[in-house]
Amino acid sequence: MHELSIATDLINTAIDTAKQNDAREVISVTVEIGELALINPEQLQFMYQVLTEENMLKGSKLIIINIPAVAECECGYKGPVPDKTTCSCPNCGRTMRAVEGRDICLKTMEIEV
Ligand SMILES: [Zn+2]
Repeated sequence: MHELSIATDLINTAIDTAKQNDAREVISVTVEIGELALINPEQLQFMYQVLTEENMLKGSKLIIINIPAVAECECGYKGPVPDKTTCSCPNCGRTMRAVEGRDICLKTMEIEV
């Protein structure tokens, strides 16, 4: 499942970061998710809770920030993506190039040292 591998990566990164900063406790983890990453936030939230039950992230909160997709097309269109699955241009139907909204990134972490 897509969300499972995302959650695993995210948690590993968060644990590494927490260790590097000598965290005693992690309060929250904020992650930015682009619309085009096609992640189900509820599923990610659920996986996060399950996968952090046994590690130092236990009890921490996952905060998800949605980043709207922006794409550009050869025809000159640049803006939101009406169809996230195909990423086709609303003007001409060609496949657009995504300039924003594809990534998943760990933004900030609130820790107790
Ligand atoms: Zn176009």
